[in-house]
Amino acid sequence: MTDKEQNYKQQTIATRGGYQRTHENEQSEALFLTSSYVFESAEMAAKSFSDEVEGNIYSRYTNPTVRTFEQRLAALEGGEQAVATASGMAATLSVIMGLLKSGDHIVCSRDVFGSTRVMMDKYITKFGVDVSYVALADLSAWQNALKPNTRMLFCETPSNPLSEIADLEALSQLAKKAQALLVVDNCFCTPMLQKPLQWGADIVVHSATKYIDGQGRALGGALVGSAQLMEQVQGFLRAAGPTMSAFNAWLFLKGLETLQLRMQAHSANAAALAQWLLAHPKVSHVYYSGLSDHPGHKLAKKQQTDFGGVLSFIVEGGREAAWRVIDATQMLSLTANLGDTKTTIVHPATTTHGRLSDAERAEAGIEEGLIRVAVGLEDLVDIQNDLELGLSLL
Ligand SMILES: *Cc1c(COP(=O)(O)O)cnc(C)c1O
Repeated sequence: MTDKEQNYKQQTIATRGGYQRTHENEQSEALFLTSSYVFESAEMAAKSFSDEVEGNIYSRYTNPTVRTFEQRLAALEGGEQAVATASGMAATLSVIMGLLKSGDHIVCSRDVFGSTRVMMDKYITKFGVDVSYVALADLSAWQNALKPNTRMLFCETPSNPLSEIADLEALSQLAKKAQALLVVDNCFCTPMLQKPLQWGADIVVHSATKYIDGQGRALGGALVGSAQLMEQVQGFLRAAGPTMSAFNAWLFLKGLETLQLRMQAHSANAAALAQWLLAHPKVSHVYYSGLSDHPGHKLAKKQQTDFGGVLSFIVEGGREAAWRVIDATQMLSLTANLGDTKTTIVHPATTTHGRLSDAERAEAGIEEGLIRVAVGLEDLVDIQNDLELGLSLL
């Protein structure tokens, strides 16, 4: 990004940051669908390969469209550098493969994304990296889980589906003392609502698949942090290959342009739906950090500019009642995905959290009557009417 661009306000960076127009003078960002690049001479090829000159060699290493996305996202998160990945999980994999080694230990929040847990437990541990899990909002649990070989604290805040909030400033202090890195999955908030680096996190993880695309079209991910850390991660990506496709980078670039407006609209719809559910006689509890009695409300207010689009609620009557409400909807999409313009609904206990044992589920607070809604951008009245179809049956 140029110096002038660095001084732009957030929404200007989101629409224009990181892009250099080509000789064709296009208004919209060009999409470079090319796997490799040609050199001017054999000498330039040699210099490119030996890093004497900067330049594109192959799209597993660099691609102009992917680079534009990386620069724009890095600027939005307030980080020096970003690296784009094939998916959110590829981002999490890359941060671990690039920065940790056998014998290291990770402390991870218990309620991370399901595949993050599977990857840690089944694959990362296979290479001699140990993982301990703690409750996201329990600072003393984080403190007690630290070991001399702890090199990474990994968390996702707000948590899914109960909207618990981690104290990022406190966690970053713990991490610094332990000489470990604080890595924060910022998928639910995006930089438009929360900038973890500002609170002392070292690295931000994204699934661009969710709000950054925002329209349910493509898989992608990214990491943001210091140039020094990102270089190490990029080394792994270049060698191993879970890089972002140029086409997806182009979609995500366009997603960033409207991200702020969408996050505000998702948050406004979710806040209004949370209030409506709270007043509903068939709903016994609503989990949304925007509600003033939510245990994470104060913290969310401090470190976020709004509360996001995901909420969950409990209906009396357990699994049977929850399934009845879900099955009675006619408009909402029954899918575990989130961050879409279209509202999605899911029963966590039997889907996203179905792999957990009964005891683990109870510990995580995932009740049988719990329903998660990732509130989209439809008219609120239609979302309410669709939920009422099932709620009125209870
Ligand atoms: C979806 C998701 C991921 C994984 O991202 P993919 O793009 O599906 O690989 C990671 N973290 C969170 C919080 C997610 O919601």
